Amino acid sequence: MQSSVLHKNPRLWFPGGTVVFRAQDTIYRLFPDILSSCSPVFQGLFTVPQPSSQETYEGLPLITLPDQSGDLTALFEAIYAPQDSHIFLSSATSDAYPLEKTLGVLKLSTKYQIEYLRYQALRLLCADHVPLTFDAFDHKGTKWSKSTTTAMKILPVARQCNAIWLLPTLFYLSCALPTDETHDPDEFTQADIDLMDERRIWRGRSLLIQANNREICAPLRMPCDSMELDCSNSKIDLLDSWLDGCPLEFIAWKPTGLCANCLPLMKQEVETAKRRFWHSIPYLFDLPPWEELRKQQDIDLGYAPGAQTDVQN
Ligand SMILES: [Zn+2]
Repeated sequence: MQSSVLHKNPRLWFPGGTVVFRAQDTIYRLFPDILSSCSPVFQGLFTVPQPSSQETYEGLPLITLPDQSGDLTALFEAIYAPQDSHIFLSSATSDAYPLEKTLGVLKLSTKYQIEYLRYQALRLLCADHVPLTFDAFDHKGTKWSKSTTTAMKILPVARQCNAIWLLPTLFYLSCALPTDETHDPDEFTQADIDLMDERRIWRGRSLLIQANNREICAPLRMPCDSMELDCSNSKIDLLDSWLDGCPLEFIAWKPTGLCANCLPLMKQEVETAKRRFWHSIPYLFDLPPWEELRKQQDIDLGYAPGAQTDVQN
């Protein structure tokens, strides 16, 4: 073992630790009992007798894990230095705690069956990046509409970690990019989105535009019956600007030129159409209906300390 190429993580290098973990070129000196107490996978690892050919580092057993060091660091920080881990905060969108760390904790807490950290990672993703209801989406519409790249990063991890109840929103956000930007062929590869899901995004995008033109724009086609101000021309202008968009983009629309009869009617109709559309999102992306997804969400977010619920693998 060439120790010179290995980097000790200073915050996860405890002098009293009795085992050294390695991921890529980073090593951690830790207390195995703590890992065993929160992860049945690590517990199993430590109960298997180690072979005599076991690698060592400075006289301690060296266990090499196949994980990315960034992911493992985020996981170990959450376990051994929770005071420094933002995974427990109510919101963590900041440079200090980038999305990659939350995703790292989600990936490895799922893999190593560390239920309380999987819960924290999912909770944080929902708080910061993935609205799960129409009202939550609508409320923060401006913020979410800029989250396409973020959604594309989360999507494959949610898939891998079997948190499929996150997928309707993530698929929708992934589709909401302007067409010219989605034409970067490397974007899907960089985001690690597989071909099947890439296909769903392209097909879904086409279905979104159809749904927008058919349903969200439908109220604009209603005739104006005002005796004082005929607002038909304003409706034509609005229709021009709304066609070929994504159905939930018009969160804070401010229609101008509509008459007093049409304006409240339009708002009501558009709101109803958007809600109806939201309900259909899972169907557009080959996912189970919301009701079924909601049950899985309740299990995943229903973690409570001391309660033994199965991790959804
Ligand atoms: Zn009118």
